[in-house]
Amino acid sequence: MKVLGSYASGEWFVGNGKRQTLLNPATEEPVADISSEGLDLAAAFTFAREVGGAELRSMTFAHRAEVLLAASRAIHKEREHLLDLATENGGNTRGDAKFDVDGASGTLAFYANLGKELGNKKVLADGDAAQLSRGPRFVGQHVFVPRRGVALLINAFNFPAWGFGEKAACAWLAGMPIIMKPATSTALVATRIVELLVEQNIVPKGAITLLNGPAGSLTDHVGGEDVLSFTGGSKTAAMLRALPAVVSQSLRINIEADSLNAAVLGADVEVGSDLWNAFLRDVSRDITQKAGQKCTAIRRVFVPKDRVADVTEALAERLREVIVGNPKEDSVTMGPVATAAQLVDVRAGIERLAAEATYVLGDKAFQPVGAPAGKGFFVPPTLFSSEDPGKQNAVHAHEVFGPCASVLGYENPEGAITGVRRGGGALVSSIYSDDRALSTEFALGLGSAHGRLVITNAKICEQTVGPGTVLPHSIHGGPGRAGGGEELGGLRGLAFYSHRVALQGDRTLFEAMLA
Ligand code: NAP
Repeated sequence: MKVLGSYASGEWFVGNGKRQTLLNPATEEPVADISSEGLDLAAAFTFAREVGGAELRSMTFAHRAEVLLAASRAIHKEREHLLDLATENGGNTRGDAKFDVDGASGTLAFYANLGKELGNKKVLADGDAAQLSRGPRFVGQHVFVPRRGVALLINAFNFPAWGFGEKAACAWLAGMPIIMKPATSTALVATRIVELLVEQNIVPKGAITLLNGPAGSLTDHVGGEDVLSFTGGSKTAAMLRALPAVVSQSLRINIEADSLNAAVLGADVEVGSDLWNAFLRDVSRDITQKAGQKCTAIRRVFVPKDRVADVTEALAERLREVIVGNPKEDSVTMGPVATAAQLVDVRAGIERLAAEATYVLGDKAFQPVGAPAGKGFFVPPTLFSSEDPGKQNAVHAHEVFGPCASVLGYENPEGAITGVRRGGGALVSSIYSDDRALSTEFALGLGSAHGRLVITNAKICEQTVGPGTVLPHSIHGGPGRAGGGEELGGLRGLAFYSHRVALQGDRTLFEAMLA
């Protein structure tokens, strides 16, 4: 069986100590072992900082953009194989796997384009120069320069390809080397991507390090001008926030964590209209895509109180058509959750919701298609409803990271806003309405609790990609429970990996520097 090692200090390393086994979540068959015990982490950090950092900083934006483009193309060329690995190790249907793998190559290509436009410079302007004295030549100019450290990128299990691509694209374009640590349980896809980049000599020496396997003492090595970008659960995030380097050295840290995203149906939307159907399409897609294991998935569905029954029935009808099983079977439209631990977590979360709401859908005794009897980490699409969610707590406090959502009634727009905000800060919520005044009220009422709002009306409902898709043009991240992070958003995404410095001096010098 394949043993996944780490790539550090310019070479592959397979630990000879304790190993962990990665499973196929549909069959529970082993797919690979993983071990990095014994890896010299201190040397890996030093090599990345010194060799990788120097290489990247010597390159212009246009040159770094070529690296991103080559990485994007290499991933795209290997697409079929990566899709198979995502099915084997992540339980992804082909559609789910494409969402992840194409997300990675697409995001790298997007940043390659931005880098090409920045051209042959190494310093990025932040706004315009400001005249500082009477004469016109003495000015202040804010600029971004690359941080002289390493970007430690820790990712969650659900997006092994995109999670790498979205962080690496910004770090490399900004001029920082990366050390990536994929989640152990689904590391097969991320490992293959690194193999590709190394085999084809795509990234400069030292610009990429892969640390496979449990974190161990990994975070003991961060400090100084390093940055830490984390995606995962809020408990792990809380531990990272308390790291000595974060506390005493002001280590820059970005957290993408749990999120109780909402969809809000406006009272003006008529049953059976195009907008109504778009709303149902988005909600049911988010419940089932990647078996609900998307940080952006809709968990709470707010609808006018007198529409709870209609919406619940219409959603249940769609969800009953979902075929759950081994994603290797062509007929299957939803796979398992990724691990046995996730299965336990999701089931426990469903029990918590069930204690406070009406169970609409979610037959525990269902039979997954094409999976060996009694095997696999399957959860059926699960739906709850409540006409009076005011007294419910769990639905606003606990993220069930699986194919599960709750339909919640609201009395008036203010009630919907209050209800959504009970989630404590989210990555994204979506609003469905043709009423401009209502949409504006929702945008104002919900904006500060979100990283992104998707406002869909009848004119664009056939064009939108839905709230669950993270596009590199817009920022990704959310306040409060969602971690307080911010990634992507075009060139904004480079700021985290750069240092902003105010330069004061001769206008023409800065013009030349930034040309
Ligand atoms: P997790 O258990 O927190 O793990 C996330 C990552 O942290 C994994 O790579 C894990 O490695 C690593 N890790 C665990 N302990 C660590 C330590 N002591 N030091 C350093 N790294 C450590 O989360 P998960 O179960 O993989 O992901 C699910 C959660 O992620 C969900 O709550 C979801 O909402 C959230 N998520 C958020 C976003 C977003 O963009 N906001 C995106 C996707 C997922 P091991 O795998 O080796 O334990």
